[in-house]
Formats: sequence, structure tokens, C-alpha cells
Amino acid sequence: MAPVKYGQATIPWTVSWSGEDSFFIAPCPYAAGRPALCQPERPGDGRPLFAKPHSCRQRKAMFHRLCDICGRTLHAHTLVSMSQESPREVPGLGFFPLAVEPMVHRHCGAEALRHCPSLKRQQANGTLRIRQVFQFKLIAQLLNEAATKEFAGASASGAVGHLKLAIIKATDRDIKWLGAA
Ligand SMILES: [Zn+2]
Repeated sequence: MAPVKYGQATIPWTVSWSGEDSFFIAPCPYAAGRPALCQPERPGDGRPLFAKPHSCRQRKAMFHRLCDICGRTLHAHTLVSMSQESPREVPGLGFFPLAVEPMVHRHCGAEALRHCPSLKRQQANGTLRIRQVFQFKLIAQLLNEAATKEFAGASASGAVGHLKLAIIKATDRDIKWLGAA
């Protein structure tokens, strides 16, 4: 899969597009076939909606361990999380950061830092967080009826929303390590 361009910019793989901005409930292969919040798959249609990860691509990236930025595999690669999440209580698991952003390649993280306004902002105000991930667990976020009604206009309490990344074991790294200094 080739990265999708918008003008000159390469758009992160999990970003949704305005042409995909509708929702429905359907069984999801990346959530063990359970009902999940889904969107049509039309990357490149319309304009990119940076703050809204595509429901299906987000789960697919988590499930198949694909890079958030380029969509290619992270198997046999250094795992990097650029989520800002701080540790919190994850029921049944312990006290860990729970990230909605899939992990990235080191070079993709460096590239993102050069182009992504929100990462640049985090770098400027000292909140940028770069973690090398050694161990993680995926947690399905379950939606309540109000949420599925709001998004998909259907009552589907317990449908899966995002797959989240519980970061069990990681080391903090800096932009030099990332290759972006
Ligand atoms: Zn990548």
C-alpha cells in the first residue's frame, strides 16, 4: 500500500478522510469478528481529517502491528510510540499508558515530527514523548449504546471502538535517538 498524498503532503495511513466520514456497525476481523464501529474505506477521498483516526484502519494497524504513518509492518522493527498518554489504571492489567495511536517506525516517527503540527507543538512546549516499546497488550474499547447511537445511529451496546495499546514495558527516548535531531 502506497502512502496517500494530499497536495505535497504524505498523509498518515490511519488518518480518515472527509469522504469516509460516516459510520456503521459491522463485524470486524480485527476485533475477533465482534460488532464494531466501522467506516467506508476510501483513503484519499476528500480532505484528511487529522484528528480522526479511521476506525477500521486504526484497529487494523493495532491488530497487525502496522505503522501509524506508512501502514507497513512493524514486525522485526524497533517499536516506537509517540503517544503522550501517561500511565493510568487499566482494569485487569495494572497501571500503564493506554494509547489510541498505533506505533510507528523510528524513521516514520522522525518524519512525522518534521511535518505534524501537533507533534511540533509538543516538542516546543516540552510535552513530546517518545517511547521505545518492548511489551504491549491490545485492549478493545467498548462503546456504550449512547455512543453507537451518536456515531452510527444504531443501538449496539458493547460494540468495539478503537483498539488501544497498553504500553507494558517501554523506555523513554529523545529526538536524537529517533533520528530527528
Ligand atoms: Zn512507518
